[in-house]
Amino acid sequence: MTQAFDVVVVGAGMVGAALATGLGRDGLNVAMVDRAPAPDFDPAAAPDIRVSALSAGSERYLRTLGAWPHILDMRATPYQRLAVWDETRHPLATLIPRTLTEVEFDAAALGASHLGHIVENSVTQQALWQTAGAESLVTVIAGQSVSTLEQTRQTVTLTLQNGQALEAKLVIGADGAQSRIRDLAGIGVARNQYNQQAMVISVRYQGPVENVTWQGFHPTGPRAFLPLHSAGPDHPGESWGSLVWYDAPEELARLKALPSEQLMAEIRKAFPSELPSLTHIDACASFPIARQHARHYFAGRVVLAGDSAHTINPLAGQGVNLGFQDAQCLQAMVKEARRAGDDLADPTWLGKYEQQRRPANRRMMMTMDLFYHLFSNRIPPVHLLRNLGLGAARALPFARNRVARYAMGIDEELPVIVKQLAARLPGIDQL
Ligand SMILES: Cc1cc2nc3c(=O)[nH]c(=O)nc-3n(C[C@H](O)[C@H](O)[C@H](O)COP(=O)(O)OP(=O)(O)OC[C@H]3O[C@@H](n4cnc5c(N)ncnc54)[C@H](O)[C@@H]3O)c2cc1C
Repeated sequence: MTQAFDVVVVGAGMVGAALATGLGRDGLNVAMVDRAPAPDFDPAAAPDIRVSALSAGSERYLRTLGAWPHILDMRATPYQRLAVWDETRHPLATLIPRTLTEVEFDAAALGASHLGHIVENSVTQQALWQTAGAESLVTVIAGQSVSTLEQTRQTVTLTLQNGQALEAKLVIGADGAQSRIRDLAGIGVARNQYNQQAMVISVRYQGPVENVTWQGFHPTGPRAFLPLHSAGPDHPGESWGSLVWYDAPEELARLKALPSEQLMAEIRKAFPSELPSLTHIDACASFPIARQHARHYFAGRVVLAGDSAHTINPLAGQGVNLGFQDAQCLQAMVKEARRAGDDLADPTWLGKYEQQRRPANRRMMMTMDLFYHLFSNRIPPVHLLRNLGLGAARALPFARNRVARYAMGIDEELPVIVKQLAARLPGIDQL
């Protein structure tokens, strides 16, 4: 039997579950489908290997959806400071003292209580499944992936793995970077694989929960520290943290194959001296990183949001923050279409969604590329330039605060100088 809905959201990761909650709350009849079973949370378990820095803007959005209190009931770690510096060893580096080339953003200087929170992806997803499940108009279908998609002038029909058919006016593909919905709708992507991969390592360290997240840029890629919650009474005096080590795939494969003690020794050797004293490695996993942008955000009655529409280099941790901005914009457009009495897949409204989100997502991609090219480079003038750039950012509190406000999700626009630099990168016009 075919079940009819206004909207079917395929993929109930952080972005899809947020959209299902918001649309259900706006009075739409929604099905939320995910191939994975419902996520669960065990307070005694080690942290999820995948964590995200959620900006103040994302926090605001998650509050409006009612998910934020659920997140705080599980676990989230606020950070007040964010530091970035260049770790390249080069003769010219001695000309510029480290204190001049380190940029630190401080919540207090921006009049804020914190810059953001580090939250495990499974915690955010679990909170959003709770809010979606609490909406009477949202039907949650877990453990089913989509087999077929067929569009007519009036509707779109999906068949699930178990043969169940779902009919809707609009299908939202929020099924991640390898989106099947994007493929079934015939939407192509422009993709650029970086030479680096990201290895994420869950660790425990000695000491109270840190209030800073930092990243040192090495020519082979950045090395970053993200603080997590206290390790509790089982490990008194210890806290959890997440390390991210960007490097060539072969080097990360070598590191991943090492026994825990040897990997710990390599981390101590390679990471900046700011790294707290590590006591245990719980898990590590590596992720390929690519810049990917869908050629179109919609085709007929299918529209994309989050990683299915775009992935960026995670070095500044902005992927899901952008996805949440897509979700808010798309929800607003669907609401407007409905208020106007238009078809929910009316190209005028879906076109407005793409017009708003594509340039913003593209701008963030370009900015990440600018950082990637600038810092993965040993050429002396480039080294000098980036250090002068960091020095200038440090010396110009106004510019620095503008970047921080953008990263926090308070401002929507990057400073003009960053936009201009990013626009000069090769290959950007093909995005
Ligand atoms: C190393 C690393 C670090 C990162 N750090 C940050 C950070 O600090 N801050 C940040 O903002 N972002 C970060 N990101 C990016 C962030 O993880 C992604 O942008 C985010 O997970 C995208 O969410 P999503 O909901 O769009 O997609 P996903 O999280 O990929 O969710 C997709 C969902 O769709 C489901 N699905 C897939 N296919 C199907 C199908 N055929 N049928 C049904 N369901 C399906 C999956 O089960 C999943 O639940 C990082 C990424 C990486 C790799």
